Amino acid sequence: MYTYKVAGPQVGIEQEIIRQSCNLIGYGLQSNGTFPAGGSMSNYMALIMARYVKDPSCRENGMTKPLVMYTSKESHYSNAKNASFAGIGKNNIRYVETDEKGRMIPANLEVQIELDIQNGFTPIFVNATAGTTVLGAFDPIDKIADVTEKYNMWLHVDGAYCGSVLFSDAKKHLLNGVERSDSFSYNAHKMIGTPLTCSVILVKDKKHLHNSFSNEADYLYQTDGDDFNLGKTSFQCGRRNDALKFWTLWKSIGSNGLEKIINQQFELADVARNYVANHPDYTLYSFEDSISICFNYKNIDPKTLCTLLYGHQITVVGFGDFREDTFIRFVTINATNTEKDILNFFTVLEEFVEKNSAILKEKHVNL
Ligand SMILES: *Cc1c(COP(=O)(O)O)cnc(C)c1O
Repeated sequence: MYTYKVAGPQVGIEQEIIRQSCNLIGYGLQSNGTFPAGGSMSNYMALIMARYVKDPSCRENGMTKPLVMYTSKESHYSNAKNASFAGIGKNNIRYVETDEKGRMIPANLEVQIELDIQNGFTPIFVNATAGTTVLGAFDPIDKIADVTEKYNMWLHVDGAYCGSVLFSDAKKHLLNGVERSDSFSYNAHKMIGTPLTCSVILVKDKKHLHNSFSNEADYLYQTDGDDFNLGKTSFQCGRRNDALKFWTLWKSIGSNGLEKIINQQFELADVARNYVANHPDYTLYSFEDSISICFNYKNIDPKTLCTLLYGHQITVVGFGDFREDTFIRFVTINATNTEKDILNFFTVLEEFVEKNSAILKEKHVNL
């Protein structure tokens, strides 16, 4: 995908997905983007652009000042890795407190920024999450943008998990304020269900992609303009045409079809959440507008239960934490499932517990 000479019309396919996506989130005509190797890489590219804005000689000389970045306690772990790769350092990430629903608290963000400025740091970057990994929470982008605009910092919205709500009229309000961000990413291989990998990063002003990712290479860039030589704005040199998987899906089912995929996942989540909420043997930890249904059953230790279900080859489900609680995390991201499939999951789990009460007792589980 690095040059038009090599990729030909595939360049147009990628650019078309990017253009349509930018339109949907309200980025203007200066916007563009690329297809990175995944959501972790999208977060990394955003951080690198933010670093360049505040320390433009860093590409030649290395960093010249102590930079700090901000994200919530519930954000993706790639933030920590990326801080280490970028030379910022893991100790220079500030993990902002979240509210009772797992969303970043903008007031706490601002307090931390003020503190860092007083201590001689340069705040550069906020990574907000649209769909946190465990709870599926959406950070309040509009209120966070108030802060990043005030302090002139880069705002990236990590929508790897749930940013695809941009295709749903019913759910896109969860991204309110995203048009004020500097960059936004989403993984079509998650909610949209394309084969791996299909990750998109959009940048409000494409000059930032050029500033951070272009490099002269006479042996490569011999024909056509920068707008068609996509290697000028990508991390990799050679890469697959990930956009094609998404393009064929979009062409075949249309925007309405994509919307149905998203809405179906939230409907299935409602089925699961209502089931858990209405059954006294369950404890619910999730909130509306999330496709992660977190729960416990009969106070059984969730790690024990998940491990037994896996070990006995019954079903594969994981567990997660939020604050002091650990729980089973059931994700309704597969839009080909039906209500019946979701309810069947609970039946299977309950029957397993019933049949294996002896093993669970051995594990000191109080039934
Ligand atoms: C999955 C996920 C990522 C990482 O995406 P990869 O494509 O697996 O690298 C980043 N952020 C969030 C919020 C995610 O859910």
